[in-house]
Amino acid sequence: MPKKLLLTLVSLTFFLQNLSAKDYKWDSNMTFLNFLENHNIPLKTYYNMDREDKELIQEIRSGQTYSINKRNGKIVNITIPVSDELMLELKNTKKGYVAKYVPIPYTTVEKTISIKIKRSFEKDLDDATKTSYYSRELKEVYSKAIPFKKMKKGDRIIIFYTQKYRKGKAFSNPIIQACLIEINKKPFYGFLLDDEKYYDSLGKKYERTYHSSFIRPLRQFKRISSYFTYKRFHPILRRYRAHLGIDYAARPGRAIVASSSGTISFKGWKGGYGRVIEIKHPNGIKTLYAHMRGFAKGMRKGRKVKQGRTIGYVGTSGRSTGPHLHFGLYKNGKAVNPARYVRKKIATVVKLKGKKYKKLRRLVKKYRPQFKESKSKTILKEKSEECLNCLKH
Ligand SMILES: [Zn+2]
Repeated sequence: MPKKLLLTLVSLTFFLQNLSAKDYKWDSNMTFLNFLENHNIPLKTYYNMDREDKELIQEIRSGQTYSINKRNGKIVNITIPVSDELMLELKNTKKGYVAKYVPIPYTTVEKTISIKIKRSFEKDLDDATKTSYYSRELKEVYSKAIPFKKMKKGDRIIIFYTQKYRKGKAFSNPIIQACLIEINKKPFYGFLLDDEKYYDSLGKKYERTYHSSFIRPLRQFKRISSYFTYKRFHPILRRYRAHLGIDYAARPGRAIVASSSGTISFKGWKGGYGRVIEIKHPNGIKTLYAHMRGFAKGMRKGRKVKQGRTIGYVGTSGRSTGPHLHFGLYKNGKAVNPARYVRKKIATVVKLKGKKYKKLRRLVKKYRPQFKESKSKTILKEKSEECLNCLKH
């Protein structure tokens, strides 16, 4: 068969199959079970999931974009993101619906912002980028190491950041990979390493400071039974998993305390998380305490709680295995590693050595010419991009 004819036949088949993909937004009042019912998907699709998979279901945010793919009007599959890395795929097979977490396909593009200060750090950067996201990130990351307030006319800010793209649209928050803040000709470099921390060009770590301080939500616990991970592949189960919090194994009934002061924004039952309290803190941060046996007296939505105040007790609600506390921390609605925020008593290593230092130096070498080149230009962020699952900055 001639190639051309074959191609025409193939495209004709696709055309005849009538495939369609449509994006929707997750309604704030919709539970996952409601969602299954609405699409005539058997509820056992949820009930048959294991404990960890059920927990992840609770991470579907209201306003989340999800897609329904159809062929000849019949659902082929539905994909619902649960984090920036994983999505739940409900696949319509001959044997019925199969639920599985799969990686979200995306591409990453590196971009640059380079501006000269005219008035002040915040004003100029926020104006140029049309968001307060970058100035807030930089302030949190470099904190006291950089005298942002002293920035004057002629000083410079250069940011190299990566932006994920999905279906041709920006997806998730930009990540600052390297940056330079120049104050009165003095350069302050920052480089992001795998440990999610920023270092200067000689390997000295910048200590993050936060608007609020956070403490461990349990005064006593046996051990950490599960750490935070955005995406991991289970080699035996041969499937993807994520754990968007820290699990502290502890004796049932142990007091759970507020990690930081704030206002209770949720108290009640949350599917796989069982009995949950959520506390809202300043700067778009929220903490979540799950699998509670019970709530402390007087806890209710809207109540202010101080750091260290007992809010509930360790249990196994929501079908968790052993008694433990699942502790989650969210920034602008996105799960982040609570370990990054919870204060440690022991001082951590502040200077890089060995392999990690070598890795940093490779980054410095990679970005050096780019910094040089960007210094002579003004590069602004493109005008508002349409963004999938981006959070309001
Ligand atoms: Zn957990």
